Amino acid sequence: MRNFSTFQRAQRIQSLEISEIVQLSEKAASLRAQGKDIVALSTGEPDFPTPAHIIEAAHAAALDGKTKYPPTLGIPELRDEIARRAKVTRSEVIVSTGAKQVLANAMFASLDPGDEVIMPAPFWTSYSDIVLLASGTPVVLPCAMENGFRATAQQLDAAITPRTRWVMLNSPSNPTGAIYTETELLGLAQVLRRHQHVQILIDEIYDQLSYAPFTSFASVAPDLFDRMLIVNGVSKAYAMTGWRIGWGIGPAAMISAMGAVQGQITSAASSISQAAALAALTGPEDFLEKRRKIFKARRDMVVDRLNALPGVTCPRPEGAFYVFPDVRGAMTAKGFDNCATFCAALLDQVGLALVPGRAFGLPGHLRLSYAYSEAELQAGLDRLEAFITGSRLSVAG
Ligand code: PMP
Repeated sequence: MRNFSTFQRAQRIQSLEISEIVQLSEKAASLRAQGKDIVALSTGEPDFPTPAHIIEAAHAAALDGKTKYPPTLGIPELRDEIARRAKVTRSEVIVSTGAKQVLANAMFASLDPGDEVIMPAPFWTSYSDIVLLASGTPVVLPCAMENGFRATAQQLDAAITPRTRWVMLNSPSNPTGAIYTETELLGLAQVLRRHQHVQILIDEIYDQLSYAPFTSFASVAPDLFDRMLIVNGVSKAYAMTGWRIGWGIGPAAMISAMGAVQGQITSAASSISQAAALAALTGPEDFLEKRRKIFKARRDMVVDRLNALPGVTCPRPEGAFYVFPDVRGAMTAKGFDNCATFCAALLDQVGLALVPGRAFGLPGHLRLSYAYSEAELQAGLDRLEAFITGSRLSVAG
């Protein structure tokens, strides 16, 4: 084996680890490769395939020679379609290699060392790591389950300092599925109007996966558009995680700064994937409603089964495809003092992969993704039940 010991990590990535979600998925995959029977409910991607008409559009684009470097900010047809839907202009849209790159572009384009980014917790794990990579300082607002895992206007107001550059809001949320109500968004907007140096990042990547009325931040505070970045993409609703297409909508000056970053890092998002995303946005969308119904039925089944377990409390989330139960009672009863060791024991003892809440900034919980078939969900819940109640598992494990 070669010796890489002379390699030194940069100061700003000293504390950066491979995401706990990725580590867990890799461990589950390696246990499976050893022949173990593993149920993983840990990944945030739809189990549905990308619809055929989208794949056909990509194939046609490749055959049609759409295989050259595309324009940095995205192909005009796709930017125009996104702009049309959002009632903005092309110069206010950037297409990137997934919503993740939109977030990274925004942070690299705007943060100076020590600039603060407020993020209500629990938050998607990459938020804090992207901010750290861009030399910023994450400022975490803990949001309890009792408040629906949502930040209040007072909390936000108290967290803003002269160094605050951004507040990052995610609705519907990964990992909790929580959706901010119109009244809550109006309250947050009122605070943000008073703090004109703060930019507002609204991650709405799960907006099409809402099982209750969804209100977008832009609709309640259009006057704040010149400080807003709306993030979305095709990964979740259109089952296109591997195509890597996301976009940002914001003021032209912000978009062009993000384009400058993107141009040096990826040049542009894949031309073929952009053709596919255009087909997704302009093609038939009836499958969205069908899939939404399936997700909702799975959510109800999962929440009901979780709440029937001793020491587990699970709110019924209104969006996305995650539940984020409080498992403190079950943990204590089993003698665990943290959710990471609880999840590690779940994997070792009953072959179930779930992500510890700690990874999202709120320990004592775990995240279960219901973007899996009903059979897999039932099998996973059987294992969790067996682990918590000490009952015998009727499947090979
Ligand atoms: N935002 C949130 C809240 C997410 O959960 C994810 C994916 N897990 C993303 C952004 C990134 O999505 P993508 O890069 O696939 O577009």
